[in-house]
Amino acid sequence: MPEIILARTSGFCMGVKRAMQMALETAKKSPGHVYTCGPLIHNPQAIEYLKENGVETVQDWRDIADGTIIIRAHGMPSGSIEQIAAQGLGIVDATCPHVVTSQRQIKKFSDQGFFIFVIGDSKHPEIMSLQSFAAQCMVISTPQEAQNAPRHDKIMIIAQTTFNEDEFNRIAEILKTLATEAIVCNSICQATSERQHEIKSLAAGADAVVIVGGKLSANTRRLAEIATEICPKTFHVETESELSAADFKDCRKIAVSAGASTPDFITSRVIDYLKKLP
Ligand code: SF4
Repeated sequence: MPEIILARTSGFCMGVKRAMQMALETAKKSPGHVYTCGPLIHNPQAIEYLKENGVETVQDWRDIADGTIIIRAHGMPSGSIEQIAAQGLGIVDATCPHVVTSQRQIKKFSDQGFFIFVIGDSKHPEIMSLQSFAAQCMVISTPQEAQNAPRHDKIMIIAQTTFNEDEFNRIAEILKTLATEAIVCNSICQATSERQHEIKSLAAGADAVVIVGGKLSANTRRLAEIATEICPKTFHVETESELSAADFKDCRKIAVSAGASTPDFITSRVIDYLKKLP
């Protein structure tokens, strides 16, 4: 049997735990329907669990006639909460406190005339929320995009909370050369940063790495990217059913980590599977 090493930092982060608890408590107490706009977290198994416990997912709150909307940990665009309230719906705001801090920082510097560069994935809901707090803003995802970015006198550079820290530093260095005054706000949250550091050291000493979590989860995908750079035999899976014993032939040490939105019971099933390998 290979040695299995589980990352200390794997599993739900503070923001996800808080959002799950708030959603489940609301569903228990509330007589009406409880919804989230888009999945509360990017993990299909966790979404199924929420559904079984009275929290449904809708794509747009404008389609809802009554009930309560849970604001996701990613946050919502500026002004949305007021619009939801104006429609007569209940609101439970589960925006992660780290995302709220980023929203406030963006608003503060934007009000002072800074052009805002948000480093992240432009289609991610957190980025859509962050962008809406800036008067002038551009999303940058890669160093190449940073090289082609326009010049501005005063810029503020901020990250998606789950972005790859090394990549953020690379992009920030390029953007800084395009401005007279640059404020760099490394808003990558501690949970993400610790997880990325740990997987780097675990992957360096492992024959294979398994990253458990939703394929649409940004922080899980980044963990898999970081691990793959160091240990090419890295597998990103949502459940143990995607693994095959043949992939681990001759592997003596397997490192396992999970994204911030991966429930522990799913990671445990993966570990049980790996423990049964010959
Ligand atoms: S990954 Fe970080 S910012 Fe995102 S919900 Fe978790 S603690 Fe909050």
